[in-house]
Amino acid sequence: MTGLMAGRRGLIMGVANDHSIAWGIAQTLHAHGARLAFTYQGEALGRRVTPLAAKLDSDVVLPCDVEDLASVDATFAALDERFDGRLDFVVHAIGFSDKAQLKGRYVDVTTRENFARTMTISCFSFTEIAQRAAKRMPEGGSLLTLTYGGSTRVMPNYNVMGVAKAALEASVRYLASDLGPDGIRVNALSAGPMRTLAGAGIADARLMFNHQRAHAPLRRTVTLEDVGGSALYLLSPLSGGVTGEVHFVDSGYNIISMPRPDVLQA
Ligand code: NAD
Repeated sequence: MTGLMAGRRGLIMGVANDHSIAWGIAQTLHAHGARLAFTYQGEALGRRVTPLAAKLDSDVVLPCDVEDLASVDATFAALDERFDGRLDFVVHAIGFSDKAQLKGRYVDVTTRENFARTMTISCFSFTEIAQRAAKRMPEGGSLLTLTYGGSTRVMPNYNVMGVAKAALEASVRYLASDLGPDGIRVNALSAGPMRTLAGAGIADARLMFNHQRAHAPLRRTVTLEDVGGSALYLLSPLSGGVTGEVHFVDSGYNIISMPRPDVLQA
């Protein structure tokens, strides 16, 4: 506990349960003094998120479905009442695609309808959140989204999500450039494979997990604490000079090209 985030108000979007990346980040931010509000998608998740938020001393728990812009606007209006129209940071940990299209060849399985839906929810929602959050950050702030290395390198079955993450990372750079003069920093955290609800939606997720463990320089997958620590850095004054970055928290997996010979020969 450092008090690094004391007095800072933040919105955490994307907690589904206590395995969610957003939950790991929220725990770390709370431990360093942040005051948090949470959103949830649908009443069933609301029943899970409310007690989790209470554990972090928050009773600001608001519904938000980013596919519905009226819902996003209602969320910010409700948030204004609780946070006096001010916000210091946002964590956007939201992703969705039809599970049936996260399996097989991208060229075969991808439909126009799901491509558009995946882009709206997993990519463009970050821009729509940034548009609204920035108005509430007169003294600057920090926006963070979650991405994955399937944006720049092909991962089997990641398919349309990889395309959406590439667009999300490009959005981070454009938003960082636009909002920088207002003291608002915009970054992405690229996490290695983690066992979450969304992660389980990708076919052969277990193989991705094992591959990461075998080949990443640190020879392990990443934890919620790993992601929480790096998010704290990106959301706090510690990273005051950093914007437009895609920061890898993946045990170093992204630097590897050829798999280890000892594993290939086994
Ligand atoms: P998760 O299932 O715990 O979280 C995904 C969240 O997205 C859920 O809370 C869900 O309610 C929310 N969501 C989906 N559609 C929504 C909508 N229309 N409106 C509002 N919320 C919606 O899984 P997670 O792995 O913690 O995912 C969080 C983020 O991290 C995602 O962007 C994901 O792509 C990214 N990520 C995950 C991994 C991984 O291996 N799990 C790795 C890198 C990046």
